[in-house]
Amino acid sequence: MNKFEALGLKQTLLDAVADLGFENPSEVQEKAIPILLEGETDLVALAQTGTGKTAAFGFPLIQKLQAESRTTQGLILSPTRELCLQITNELKLYSKYEKGVNVVAIYGGASITEQAKQIKRGAQIVVATPGRMKDMIGRRLVDISKIDFCILDEADEMLNMGFFEDIKDILSNTPDEKSTWLFSATMPKEVSVIAKRFMHNPQEITVGAKNSGTDTVQHEYYVVGGRDRYPALKRLADANPDIFSVVFCRTKRDTQRVAEKLIEDGYNAGALHGDLSQNQRDLVMGSFRKKQIQMLVATDVAARGIDVDDITHVINYQLPDEIETYTHRSGRTGRAGKSGISMVIVTRSEMRKIHAIEKKIKRDFISKKIPTGIEICETQLYHLANKIKDTEINKDVENYLPAINEVLEGIDRDELIKKIVSVEFTRFSNYYNKSKDLNSSGPDRERGGDRDDRGGNSRGASSDGSIRYFINIGEKDGYDWMTLKDFLKDKLSLGRDDVFKVDTKDAFSFFNTEAEHTDAILAFFSDYKEDGRFINVEVSKSPEGGRGGGNRGRRRERSGSGGGSGRSGRSSGGGARRGDRNFSKSGASNSGRRRSSGGSSSSGNSSKKKSGFY
Ligand code: ADP
Ligand code: MG
Repeated sequence: MNKFEALGLKQTLLDAVADLGFENPSEVQEKAIPILLEGETDLVALAQTGTGKTAAFGFPLIQKLQAESRTTQGLILSPTRELCLQITNELKLYSKYEKGVNVVAIYGGASITEQAKQIKRGAQIVVATPGRMKDMIGRRLVDISKIDFCILDEADEMLNMGFFEDIKDILSNTPDEKSTWLFSATMPKEVSVIAKRFMHNPQEITVGAKNSGTDTVQHEYYVVGGRDRYPALKRLADANPDIFSVVFCRTKRDTQRVAEKLIEDGYNAGALHGDLSQNQRDLVMGSFRKKQIQMLVATDVAARGIDVDDITHVINYQLPDEIETYTHRSGRTGRAGKSGISMVIVTRSEMRKIHAIEKKIKRDFISKKIPTGIEICETQLYHLANKIKDTEINKDVENYLPAINEVLEGIDRDELIKKIVSVEFTRFSNYYNKSKDLNSSGPDRERGGDRDDRGGNSRGASSDGSIRYFINIGEKDGYDWMTLKDFLKDKLSLGRDDVFKVDTKDAFSFFNTEAEHTDAILAFFSDYKEDGRFINVEVSKSPEGGRGGGNRGRRRERSGSGGGSGRSGRSSGGGARRGDRNFSKSGASNSGRRRSSGGSSSSGNSSKKKSGFY
C-alpha cells in the first residue's frame, strides 16, 4: 500500500498525489492527515517552513468537503498575498480530480469586485489574507458564517505582522462548532493566546524540536568593523559564486541602499520592500524565481511571502531586533530537505545577540572569517575552470572559428588556457590585490590593517602553521565537509583531528592539515584514481581558510561555506554572469557589461526538483 493511502486519503486524492510526484509523506503530513481525517478536532501543528504543511491540511480539507454544496466551507488565513496564491494553486492541484470544487484567493492589491464575483460563483474554499478578508466581511461580500473548517497558516507570521485584531474579528464571524487547525513554525505568546481563546482542546503535534531552527540550516557569524559591513557582504558573495540568497536589512532605506550598491557593483541584485508598488515587487520576485537575481535584498515584512525552495544562503546584513525574526529569516533556506547557510555579519558589540539567539534556537553558531582576497581569487579561479569545462559549446561559434584561429595562431594549449582564465581572474586579482583583512579581532583592531598581503608566504602556511590544500572533488561528487573529512582521514590513515577546515565547494574543496603530513598527502595523491578519475591534491596558494583561529574558532569551524549542497542544475544559472561584475572601485561605466537589476533576460534556471524532499 502506498504510504499516502495508509494515511486514509481517497483514490482521487491519491491520483493527485501521484501527479505531484510526492512519493513519501513528510513528517507533518504523516502526523496531521490521519488526525484531521478521523474526527472533528482542533489541531495545533508546529512545523518549520518547507515541511509540507499545505498538503497536511489541504488533503484532509478537500476530502471532508461537500463538493455538491456551493457554500463556503473552508477558510484558510495566510499572511501574504504570495502565500495565498501559492496555497490556492496547490489546492487546485490537489483537487484536480474532484468534481465541482472551487478554490478562490482573496488578497489586497487586486480588484475586490472581481474577487467578490468569484466567490459568488460558489467557492467551497477561500484562501485569504486577514486584511482583505476583514474588508470583504465588512462589505458583506463573503459569508463565512457556515464554515466547517478554519485554518490559520503560518500563524506566528500573521501575528508578527500585526494581524491579531483582524484575526479575532474574522473568527468572531465564524460559527462555534467548526474545526480550527492552526499551523505555525513557532509558538510565541500571541499564538497560544489565539489557540486558548478560539480553539477547543486542540490536539498538538510537533515536527522537530519546538522553537528550534531547522537541522538543515548551518548558522555562521562573521565579526567585522561597523564600517566594513558592505565590503564583507561583497566578499561573502564573491566567495560563493553560485550564491542564491536573501540579504536581510533592518529598514527599507538600508534595503534600497544595499541593493543599489550591489547593482552598481555589478551583482545580480534586487530590492524587495514595502515602498515598492505591488507591480515592482512582482517583477523583482519573478526575476528572483528565475534566478536572474542572485541576491535579493529584503526587509523582514516584505520577505514574508518568499516561497522559493532552493535559497542557498540567508545573509543577515544586520541582525533583527527580535530573536523570533531571526528564526523566520534563517527558515528561508534549508527548505524541502536541502541544506542551507544562514550568515550573520556582526560587530563585536553585537556578539551578545549571537549568544542570545544560540540559546533560543538551541543551535550553535560557527565562527567564520570573512575570506581574504587571495582565497576569493582562488575560489573564483577554480570556479571559472569548472565553468569552462561544463559549458556547452554554442554551435554558432563554428562560423567564427576560422577567423578566431587566425588571431590565436601560434599560441599553444597551455598558454591559451592561461590567457582564457586570466581574462576573468585578473579582474578579481586586481580588485583584491591590496585588499585588507575585514575580520575584526577586537576593539583595538577595528580597522584591520593589511594582513591580507601575505604574498611572500611560502607554500600554504597558515598563521597557525597548518597547510591548506586544494582537492578537485566537491559537492558535485556527493561530498559535504563531513564525508570529505572522513574520506581523507580514511585514505591517509590520519587521526580524528588531523584534517580540519574542510571547506567543500561545488566541484572542488579545501582542507588543512599540520605541515608534517604534507609530503605524505601529496605523495599519496600524486597517482590516485577513484572511479577511473584522478583525484588531485595541491597545496593551496591562499594560506588559510580563515586565520587567527584560536582554539574556539578552530573547534567550532566545522564546515565549508560552499554554495550549499544538494542543489541541482545551479551552475548554469548563478555564476554565469560573474564577468559582469564591476571590480573597479570607481564603478567606471564599461561598455558591454550587463548590469542586471533583475528585469533583464537570459540564463534563468528555475527547474524545481521534487525528488530531494526528505
Ligand atoms: P510549508 O507550508 O511547510 O512551508 P509547503 O507546503 O509550501 O511547505 O511545501 C514545500 C514544498 O515541498 C512544496 O514545493 C511542495 O510541493 C513540496 N512537498 C510537500 N509535500 C511533499 C512530499 N510529501 N513530497 C515531496 N514534496 C513535497
Ligand atoms: Mg506554507
